[in-house]
Amino acid sequence: MVRYRGITKSFGSHQVLDRIDLDIRPGEKVALIGPSGSGKTTLARLLMTLEEPTSGTIEVDGEQLWHMERKGRLVPADEKHLHRVRGKIGMVFQHFNLFPHMNILRNVTEAMVLVQRMPKEEAEARALAMLERVGLQERTKHYPAQLSGGQKQRVAIARALVMQPNIMLFDEVTSALDPELVGEVLDVIKNVAAEGEMAMMLITHEMDFARDIADRVLFTDGGRIVEQGTPEQIFENPRSERLQSFLTRFR
Ligand code: ADP
Repeated sequence: MVRYRGITKSFGSHQVLDRIDLDIRPGEKVALIGPSGSGKTTLARLLMTLEEPTSGTIEVDGEQLWHMERKGRLVPADEKHLHRVRGKIGMVFQHFNLFPHMNILRNVTEAMVLVQRMPKEEAEARALAMLERVGLQERTKHYPAQLSGGQKQRVAIARALVMQPNIMLFDEVTSALDPELVGEVLDVIKNVAAEGEMAMMLITHEMDFARDIADRVLFTDGGRIVEQGTPEQIFENPRSERLQSFLTRFR
């Protein structure tokens, strides 16, 4: 589904990712853990085409992000190509980034209508079904400012899910929430994960959540994937000293 090859990313002289290779299979749930500044968000932003790599390639579903084939040759991607590839990826951020002047229903329908050119009635039917799935069917006429942080984040998740991406990126989606609101958001993500088909990349500091949900856990440090394995391998039998010392902070 996703293939990173030799991905290096520098900001000026600061190298934040160093020759990353990473494959994510269709439906696979991958959790990224690691100290802050280790490059996790940059990895996700590259996939979302919010950043361009310094070197290396990323493929989604067999198509390169920054290049496309034309007459058997790879040429720089045009907007149409980027648009199509981006459509396969959904992202939810730490800060919900809802449209403040639109009610909840419209926040969820907007991209279906504008980007996917779906008729409004169909978009609304899908949005309502998705809002029900995240437990917000009573809030469709409210505005973002009238919701709690946990509710806002559930709207952001519904808004990404209705676009039916092949892979969803969740970047520290609970870090900005009051502790008592974290559980409701993690439960929604767990339910979506349990349905299976969609691949997920989850950047998180919630170790129990990573353990519950992930098929594979990657530990990043200093711009490299230092260790990876099943949740059992990573949390019960960490091999590297760096991972062992990182995990002691959560015990
Ligand atoms: P993490 O998600 O693991 O905390 P990030 O990917 O956010 O790590 O950041 C990795 C490093 O890249 C950090 O040192 C950060 O300051 C730097 N960085 C990220 N984005 C930019 C940017 N747009 N310009 C300059 N430096 C950046």
